[in-house]
Amino acid sequence: MNERVFNFSAGPAILPEEVLKSAAEEMMNYRGSGMSVMEMSHRSKVYNEIIETAEADLRRLMSIPDNYKVLFLQGGAWTQFSMVPMNLMKHGIADYVITGSWAKKAYDEAKTYGDARAIASSKDRDFTYIPDLDHLKISEDADYVHICENNTIYGTTYQKLPDTKGKVLVSDMSSMILSKPVDVRRYGLIYAGAQKNVGPAGTTIVIIREDLITDDVYPGTPTMLKYKTHADKNSLFNTPPTYGIYLCGKVFRWLLGMGGLEAIEKRNKEKAALLYDYLDQSELFYGTVERHDRSLMNVTFKTDDDELNERFVKEAEAKGLVNLKGHRSVGGMRASIYNAMPVEGVEALVRFMHHFEANERRT
Ligand SMILES: *Cc1c(COP(=O)(O)O)cnc(C)c1O
Repeated sequence: MNERVFNFSAGPAILPEEVLKSAAEEMMNYRGSGMSVMEMSHRSKVYNEIIETAEADLRRLMSIPDNYKVLFLQGGAWTQFSMVPMNLMKHGIADYVITGSWAKKAYDEAKTYGDARAIASSKDRDFTYIPDLDHLKISEDADYVHICENNTIYGTTYQKLPDTKGKVLVSDMSSMILSKPVDVRRYGLIYAGAQKNVGPAGTTIVIIREDLITDDVYPGTPTMLKYKTHADKNSLFNTPPTYGIYLCGKVFRWLLGMGGLEAIEKRNKEKAALLYDYLDQSELFYGTVERHDRSLMNVTFKTDDDELNERFVKEAEAKGLVNLKGHRSVGGMRASIYNAMPVEGVEALVRFMHHFEANERRT
């Protein structure tokens, strides 16, 4: 394949072309340093400016208040499934809302470290909706309430935040961070693996309120898994994922240049509407989740025929629309339309669906 494709992968996922080009230009010699960013000491002055600019830009994009730390870590969202309970379960109790596989995995991991409680679930209808958030049975002594704010696999998202009755809210934002403005003050901790909506795999972003960073952690917590270790050293305790942070920083700049998160949200809503509007009038394809809870980032859909689904994915791929196969636990199709997916990509997909449907009707 000589041309770039429209990549609808759920992750690692599409990155802005401008960012890739700029990184390519700087690959051999970063701004007169005589070396690639990959070859630099993380303690050098030149790298220090890269990581500090990245953090400052992220703070500006998300309006992160001064009493929150921004950490660039490794280990993916999965490592946060353990770090969160190890560091935050001071009383040994935490509440989890189960809205899909990732939420369930976070919950299962937390059970190792204390009394993790599943206080609501949408498993009864195959995770096709977000449960009632106004009447959650929050535990009196809960150290935090954990949600997975966008369910990458099922294609649902929280349209509003749950009432946690004053308890600390922890959110896995892996597949929706930077897709729209959020009020950081409503959260105690936000985490996200970069490879969905930010940058390359290998960097994990954590935004944590300072009062939650303490030495009072689960006994035996390794040094590397304490937030305090990284917060005290501004993410430079040991070697951070230097190149990944550099690319994330480029994406932050790109987003600022696009007009910030309000502008991005508007664009994301327009992109998602193109696809959902088509699905809603289609006689062949249909969306798989409740309309009210639909994700802006991961659009899941099907036809009633597994063979047809398979053929659709294959023929789409031949047209340069790739990675549309749904997660194996849901089947059908999934189009991940993260920030970096241009509107032309979604338009091309809708055109192809239209064409595919018209052909089906004829045969
Ligand atoms: C992809 C994903 C994860 C797992 O991320 P890793 O970085 O592979 O550990 C966790 N939560 C959500 C919501 C995801 O989309």
